[in-house]
Amino acid sequence: MRNDYHFSDLVYQKTDYEEATATLSRLTQGVKEAKSADELFDLLKQHEDFAEQIGYMATLAYIHMSLDSSDQAFAEAAAYEMAGASQLPESVFARAVLDSPYFPEVTKKYGEEYRLRLEKSFRLQKEGLDLIGKEAQLTNEYQRLKAMIRIPFRGEEYSEGQLLPLRESTDRDTRRDATKALLTAYRDKKEEFTALLKELMTVRDGIAKANGFSDYGAYKNVSYDRNDYGDAEIGRFCAQVKEYLVPLISGLHEAQRKRLGVDRLYRYDMILNFADGNAQPAGDVDSLTKASVEMYDSLNPALGDFFRGMIKTGSFEISPSDKKVSGMGFQTNLKRDLYPFVFNNCNGTDSDVTVFTHEIGHAWQHCLTIEARMPALYDQMVHDALEIPSKTMELFTFSGAEGFFGKDADKFRYAHFCTMLEEIAHFCMAHELETFVLTHPDASFEEIAARESALAQTYFPGLHGGELEPFYEEGIHLLRDMVLFMIPRYVMSYALSAVCAMQFYERFEKNPQEAVAQYDALCKKGGSLSYPALLASVDMKAPYEDGCMEELCVFARKMLARLEEKLPA
Ligand SMILES: [Zn+2]
Repeated sequence: MRNDYHFSDLVYQKTDYEEATATLSRLTQGVKEAKSADELFDLLKQHEDFAEQIGYMATLAYIHMSLDSSDQAFAEAAAYEMAGASQLPESVFARAVLDSPYFPEVTKKYGEEYRLRLEKSFRLQKEGLDLIGKEAQLTNEYQRLKAMIRIPFRGEEYSEGQLLPLRESTDRDTRRDATKALLTAYRDKKEEFTALLKELMTVRDGIAKANGFSDYGAYKNVSYDRNDYGDAEIGRFCAQVKEYLVPLISGLHEAQRKRLGVDRLYRYDMILNFADGNAQPAGDVDSLTKASVEMYDSLNPALGDFFRGMIKTGSFEISPSDKKVSGMGFQTNLKRDLYPFVFNNCNGTDSDVTVFTHEIGHAWQHCLTIEARMPALYDQMVHDALEIPSKTMELFTFSGAEGFFGKDADKFRYAHFCTMLEEIAHFCMAHELETFVLTHPDASFEEIAARESALAQTYFPGLHGGELEPFYEEGIHLLRDMVLFMIPRYVMSYALSAVCAMQFYERFEKNPQEAVAQYDALCKKGGSLSYPALLASVDMKAPYEDGCMEELCVFARKMLARLEEKLPA
């Protein structure tokens, strides 16, 4: 990766999609007329460079929009690039490559996954390109609406991210009232959000049907590389989560209730782990960055060097700012020879550390995959493995928790471990809710909210909103749910990846160096292997295999007991 630039030097230039379409047509024609395998390989390389340039501009616009959410020009540029890119006839190019008499030479060199990746673009974008563009536009609109939410609270006005410390307050009234203020702000915009969701449901169903799928869930399974497994395996996974993990989590909530000294743990209490407050980062962004350098150096010197490169090139942007989009962090790739970009808007809570360490995990995977010099189609791992590098990094971070949290390090480790377990259950629940939403495109928002309430009682028995229960019954909290609006079907990947991350962490506890080496080995494989093959390559059980959750819960209970012992009395 290049070291000789700074992010601020990179200039956004609007893509000319007419010209891009012509280029792609020329490449497609070239593939059809290719006279040798070498010629085909050369055209594939040209196509990689072409696609990289398109993605580069779209990403630059997106980053700038996130850095300054009030900048209308970049918001428009991001929407323009996203819509433009989605209209490119990529599937026609893919079809030509698949049909080439020299294609067997390609799979001989790159493996069968290459075919699956190409077929994917063909299967998913045969028809309905206008609807795909529309979906991108609607999700952008959701993000914009969400970023604009301002929450009046006790005479001040907050963004969602800024309100988080108040929702975590040790004072119960503040916790409740801050959560109420947040939900009220969303209720005020209920009509806009539900209309947007309705439109998204229609558009998504249209995309699926146009491409010959029964529903958007089935469509997304293909898009998420679920080739050797699917709904049946995922169903088995959810069943295991309900059987083994849900009782464990109920126990954790009971322990939390006792720690907080409340009669009943309400939804607005759950965010607070300890009566005297959640773990607090011990310093500002500069000191967190310094602690990160030390931790990455000790985990893996190559990772330390990589991280320093990110800082030097301005690719690590986590400082707090009113201008930035709040409430989310991300990692994104600009170009293969440039550092990935990590974004967060730190708000002084423990999530600052988990968000950016998560994103560094993504960035490091990208770097290792690029260094393995595979075709660009393999830059991204198969979907259900995508979050393994990031979720694992969150847990490896436990080794450097003192640097981030000082005296609160033990609180952080315990709470974060609990959070990851809860997330697995939460994401399975979200998956079941999505299954309903995506197979019932005509469902009303009231029906969706009712279904969510029922599922919540299965995954989190006894869950109650206390005085705020009417908001939950009405489904107001769902309006905040980026998963539902922006990335349906994604969270199952999170849940599966969290399970694998915990398996990596179990190894890390036994032998850190070996675990880090296996982790790097997994990252280096990029997207060259299917999900089951990728896990097998590091001798890991797929989460949906029988016994996986049961075994994981044995480890989790042991780990929790150890972490709990160290908590301050
Ligand atoms: Zn992630």
